[in-house]
Amino acid sequence: MGVVGAGQLGRMLALAGYPLGIRCLFLDRSAMAPAAQVAPIITGELEDAARLAELAARSEVVTFDWENISGAALAPLEKLTLVRPPRAALEVSQDRMSEKALFSKLRIPVAAHAAIDSKEELVSAARKLGLPGVLKTRRLGYDGKGQFVLRGQGQIDEAWAAIGGLGLIYERFQEFSREVSIVGARSAQGESVFYPLSSNYHGGGILHYSIAPFANAGLERIARTYLKRVMNALAYVGVLTIEFFVVKGRLVANEMAPRVHNSGHWTIEGCVTSQFENHLRAICNLPLGSTRALGHTAMVNFLGNMPDRARLLAVDGLAFHDYGKEARPGRKLGHCTILKSRATERNLALADVLKSIQWT
Ligand code: AMP
Repeated sequence: MGVVGAGQLGRMLALAGYPLGIRCLFLDRSAMAPAAQVAPIITGELEDAARLAELAARSEVVTFDWENISGAALAPLEKLTLVRPPRAALEVSQDRMSEKALFSKLRIPVAAHAAIDSKEELVSAARKLGLPGVLKTRRLGYDGKGQFVLRGQGQIDEAWAAIGGLGLIYERFQEFSREVSIVGARSAQGESVFYPLSSNYHGGGILHYSIAPFANAGLERIARTYLKRVMNALAYVGVLTIEFFVVKGRLVANEMAPRVHNSGHWTIEGCVTSQFENHLRAICNLPLGSTRALGHTAMVNFLGNMPDRARLLAVDGLAFHDYGKEARPGRKLGHCTILKSRATERNLALADVLKSIQWT
């Protein structure tokens, strides 16, 4: 399997591939990238046509852990090998406007929003859609980067100075009670499986921790319906994630990711088949595996610095994941997952673990 990008998602894919006899080959700039530490790599720029062609020639199927690769760079590979998930899914998810247009077309609720290319448009959108709101870049924004929360008209100059320019979106701020996400996988034959909902806690726009399963049968049924609609509309193959806000008991879609997702890392220890294994199974035409949860889990991200490993490993039922990255503020360096048979035990262990974690 060829993988464009050798980050932590690629690393966990490669590790899931070994027991299945699926070998991964990566393309990334650095031979020290997280996935390159566990599997072979072609080093080069991620959009270098010759390197991509080499990756495709040496792979039966190409996938990506880096979702910002352009459709134009990926398109020629389709003549050489299978590219999964489909390029159309990648392209839709790369632009917050087209993502919201797809959701709306599929009758999936989204926040009121408008495309913004000038300060004047921002002034009028804030007036028309209301405040507070969030100004975001349409493309290349992730983990809260390229976002500004506007609380009043008086902040428009400040917002514009921070991220102003072409290609923005203004969204009405969602007064959510929680954030949840659903991860699912679809095979080329159209078979699909869905993981239990995960409840996600962010700080500064970046995921801090998740608990799963988040038991809410009503919301889960609707989330599955929405995810299935998107999968079918895109003839999707692989793992797909949608993140939602829960607003007054209703799901409002925030964004989708055409790949395995941070809020699904708990499935490695928490489910019969992990999201990584199901992505591999889906794109390699193998039967999809059970998404049944094995207990109650919490997944905690390590951001900016690594916690005391020995201290965490002393927690019963904890699994530790180090991505092999250099520490840098705000960078995802690893995570841990706590698996318990009861939710109350999970909550106690989570509270204990959080005492050892500092997000920097
Ligand atoms: P995103 O990059 O769109 O996933 O945004 C990162 C995080 O910022 C989300 O998980 C929310 O916590 C927050 N956020 C983004 N958009 C909104 C919004 N329209 N209303 C309220 N919070 C938001």
